[in-house]
Amino acid sequence: MRTPVSSVVGQRCLLAVTLSVISFGLLTSCTEPPPKGATVTQVQPTQSFEQWRDGFRAQALAAGISAQTFDAAFEGIEPDDSVVTADRSQPEFTRPVWQYLESAVSAARVRNGQARSLENADVLQRIETTYGVDRATVVAIWGMESNFGQQMGSKNVIRSLATLAYEGRRPDFGRDQLIAALQILQHGDVPARNMIGSWAGAMGQTQFIPTTYNRYAVDFDGDGRRDIWGSSEDALASTANYLHVSGWQPGRTWGFEVRLPEGFDYAQADMSIRKPIAQWRRLGVQPVNGNLPTDPAGEASLLIPAGYRGPAFLVTDNFRAILTYNNSTSYALAVGLLADSFKGGGQLIGQWPVDERPLSRSERIELQQKLMEHGYALGTLDGIIGANTRQAIRAYQAAIHWPADGYPTQALLERLRN
Ligand code: CA
Repeated sequence: MRTPVSSVVGQRCLLAVTLSVISFGLLTSCTEPPPKGATVTQVQPTQSFEQWRDGFRAQALAAGISAQTFDAAFEGIEPDDSVVTADRSQPEFTRPVWQYLESAVSAARVRNGQARSLENADVLQRIETTYGVDRATVVAIWGMESNFGQQMGSKNVIRSLATLAYEGRRPDFGRDQLIAALQILQHGDVPARNMIGSWAGAMGQTQFIPTTYNRYAVDFDGDGRRDIWGSSEDALASTANYLHVSGWQPGRTWGFEVRLPEGFDYAQADMSIRKPIAQWRRLGVQPVNGNLPTDPAGEASLLIPAGYRGPAFLVTDNFRAILTYNNSTSYALAVGLLADSFKGGGQLIGQWPVDERPLSRSERIELQQKLMEHGYALGTLDGIIGANTRQAIRAYQAAIHWPADGYPTQALLERLRN
């Protein structure tokens, strides 16, 4: 995660983790916990929605929102129960990364993306020139976020965010996003009725939350409005601008599949460990296709999304730029492989351990409990395999002379039980 945009990254990550859990069930493969300082509280409203709204109206006006903008945006707005339900949902079962990739990088999406790339070739050329971001990656994110502008969510963003601010688990997030959404309306980028998005306030073809929109959305078609809903030009350029500011390096890859030597120390496969690609090669890590990377001096981390039995990848700073968009390694991997697929690549050599059943949420909590009983320090027993849990798993694996890949499996849980 890059520090210059940490506040935005934090908010986007928080959203991403929530969305991953809800829509894709990525908990086991989402390596990062919610950002530090995120308040996750169970809120029972102590006031009526109208009382809350009137109190919030004073805050919004103090923040520079006009009474006219506020009252027009809130006309007829009531809380949305489906938003609360989605926000509080904690699914028990999750899909493994290979199933997620199978649908994220489907043949239909690849064909669709290739067609869209051709249709938008001129715009993509201008975007590549302006922001230095690879067009295939921009189109891949477009496909992942909104199925190339076809699925932007259908909820009124003001209503969703007002619901989250009023009785969601993260009222501060809801309030901040709501102020930002009102700023967008006041700026005249979009009429309130067209400001639609997901239940969590991710908007338009790029699925930007309002604070991200205010920092990174651009008017690329020159009509004076940053229209990430109706203008694919604006949406694609806004995505490229976000990646550019998040540290995208022009002319470099996101990463590539690698083969690991016999007896490799899997503790090296951690996103917190970065080495020059040339140094990885000296450790015996080789690209599966034998091609030299474009920049062997560039740094990379080793990623094994399904543990030591599955495929391995070296991922660069461009992969980290994609992670700022959605802080899930499965998501970033899907974007990278989808982008490669548009150019005829993207096929993996390594086999996924498809015989493994991912741990359920209760099993992940039990795993954390058992690790604590074995003396490994963990924070909360939340069922989220974040950096701390992964570290504890590695330490335990090393102690019992198993490959220390930090990956939670049924076999590991079974071993801990006995
Ligand atoms: Ca525009």
